Amino acid sequence: MKVDRVAILDWSTAGKPRLGKDSIWLGIVDSAGVTAENLPTRSEAEARLETLIAETLAGGQRLLLGVDFNLGHPAGFARHLTGEARAQAVWAWLAARVVDGPDNAHNLPHVAAEANAAFPGQGPFWGNARKADIPGLPRTRSGLPEGLAAAREAETAATGPGARPKSVWQLSGAGAVGAQGLMGMAMVHRLRARFAGQLAVWPFEPTDAAVTVAEVYPSMLSAECKALCAANPAMAMDEAQVRLLAQALYALSAQGDLTALMDPSQDADFIAEEGWILGAGHQMELRRAVPATQEPPRLRDDCFAMPQGVDWVPVDDALNRLRAALKPITMQETCPTTQAAGRVLAAECLARRSNPPRPNSAVDGYGFAHAATGEGPQRLPLVDGRAAAGQPFDGTVPQGAAIRILTGAILPDGVDTVVLEEDTANDGAAVVFDGPVKPRANTRKAGEDVTQSALALPMGHRLRAPDLALLSALGVPEVQAFRPLRVGVLSTGDEIIAAPDLPALPHQIWDANRPMLLTLAQNWGYQAVDLGHARDDPEAIAARLNDGAARADVILTSGGASAGDEDHVSALLRARGALSSWRIALKPGRPLALALWGGTPVFGLPGNPVAALVCALIFARPAFSLMAGAGWLTPQGFTVPAAFTKSKKPGRREYLRARLNTDGAAEVFASEGSGRISGLSWADGLVELPDEAMDVAPGTPVKYLPYSSLGVV
Ligand code: AMP
Ligand code: MG
Repeated sequence: MKVDRVAILDWSTAGKPRLGKDSIWLGIVDSAGVTAENLPTRSEAEARLETLIAETLAGGQRLLLGVDFNLGHPAGFARHLTGEARAQAVWAWLAARVVDGPDNAHNLPHVAAEANAAFPGQGPFWGNARKADIPGLPRTRSGLPEGLAAAREAETAATGPGARPKSVWQLSGAGAVGAQGLMGMAMVHRLRARFAGQLAVWPFEPTDAAVTVAEVYPSMLSAECKALCAANPAMAMDEAQVRLLAQALYALSAQGDLTALMDPSQDADFIAEEGWILGAGHQMELRRAVPATQEPPRLRDDCFAMPQGVDWVPVDDALNRLRAALKPITMQETCPTTQAAGRVLAAECLARRSNPPRPNSAVDGYGFAHAATGEGPQRLPLVDGRAAAGQPFDGTVPQGAAIRILTGAILPDGVDTVVLEEDTANDGAAVVFDGPVKPRANTRKAGEDVTQSALALPMGHRLRAPDLALLSALGVPEVQAFRPLRVGVLSTGDEIIAAPDLPALPHQIWDANRPMLLTLAQNWGYQAVDLGHARDDPEAIAARLNDGAARADVILTSGGASAGDEDHVSALLRARGALSSWRIALKPGRPLALALWGGTPVFGLPGNPVAALVCALIFARPAFSLMAGAGWLTPQGFTVPAAFTKSKKPGRREYLRARLNTDGAAEVFASEGSGRISGLSWADGLVELPDEAMDVAPGTPVKYLPYSSLGVV
């Protein structure tokens, strides 16, 4: 099926005219683009739909109209109410009774009460929010009539396993959807009559008419809608839903993939009464069809600018400036949970189901009702059967009886307490133990770990192994994540030989920085992109930076970053990359060159491997974390006694290559020479000495940052 236009209707049962949140929205997509309209009343919405349909027909076009209310009820309802096992009979029944005024005043609760009266005993509908009681419409949930299910097949398929669909029997109160369906069906009946032969309702009728009406389920795109709302704070969720759903269905239609979404078991018997939800069981196809509305986020051209007259910047000021200048710069995507290790969440993750979903047993033992037990020896006859994990016990355990129960088993009806096997004796017919036992002993409450819809993990969280356990346990099949940050690494310098398997003359040195920085990027969880080595030649460096801007989100260079004659990286970035050279009061250091090359941030590190490592750990690491979406990082340090002596001058912060000795005191590398690469390997971390002067003697408390807290693995 291919259409020229898709419209999505977000319906409302408001009793008064209403705009904005929770009102009626209509999203329309065609070749002209996407629009969203907000309509204050149902009668205005119906008139708008009539115009839309008439225009479509006049233009010889085809329209798919998705409605977010149910078009059927669980099997058995239609036949019982109307004598016909067809949803269309229910629509006609409703259209003959529902009165819906131009001011949105309606008689729905009375119509529902009349439907209830068709059933022996209590009918299925419940929920009366009005002041006056309505005979036949209970205020709270009561049992369902014999043979009627709580939900339709399609709802279960649309919400996915585990999550409970909202009940079409509930007419008012939080999460009620039933009244929307009843009023919507009456309207669909009128549209069908008005455009007879030109409008068909899927899947009840063949879809060869010019206009197809189908039920849709906007929460299938809830992650995408949330992201759209986050990017457009003024947009109501309802508006985001009608826009994105219309766009996704329009895109699928254009690709010729709409039909694939319309193939439920349409010949199944229940379809004629229950209908189906467009896209149920195809959630991923639908989500993938949502157009990429996000622009890749860009940094401002002047984000690294340093105010005039600032000379030596203290480390903390530099960090604060960097933090304020940056923001996440990678796009977002949906990612299956099983493949999400190391990913950073771009939206919060909510529990799809409580953990545990139902109360269960924490031990192997015997379950019973606590109320039937007391003090002293207890003897409870055993019922036949047992409850085990994955093998629930179907029956009810009578008061005063007990059942064999194993760890993880759902507590059967009649059981609220479990006694540990080791505390019992068992003669085959009964279990014997000493009372009293605490009520609910050895049981786990439903949701005691996490309740359904609760926040499981916050935005910005980087997923580790235990997080995958949590998300899987909560039934979260995929997450909204930032794409992994791509870190390009470039070495510069005429003296540098790219790799140790190449020959080097005495005046040449092998590239030490690039393997170190590429590995660091990987250690930090990013995609390392090797940009190779460039000679001290502006065109060669520019070519590598162009390559980096195309293949990476951020570029790390080393060498040539100062302001001297041979500092070709800073010269080039000054001429063509909005360079800002930050003179940071730091040893080992020298200027940190910050620039944007074609919009891609460049962190120019000193060439000296010791300084390059320290600057990468202290500046690049938190900055990259922020740009990757995971927020700023402050390394966790520990105060330990010094095992060295040093008289430190004021005016700059110092980082010393250090490790802990067997007494837990920090010893430092014998030389502070910045060419002493061996000291980096000798060390297990850094000692951080403050900006001020400090006299360190053995035993003086100093701050130690282990490599592990700096992401050096
Ligand atoms: P520069 O920052 O270019 O002035 O370089 C400072 C010192 O670091 C010089 O001794 C360079 O030879 C050295 N150096 C620069 N790049 C590297 C590198 N990739 N590997 C090892 N040493 C380097
Ligand atoms: Mg150089």
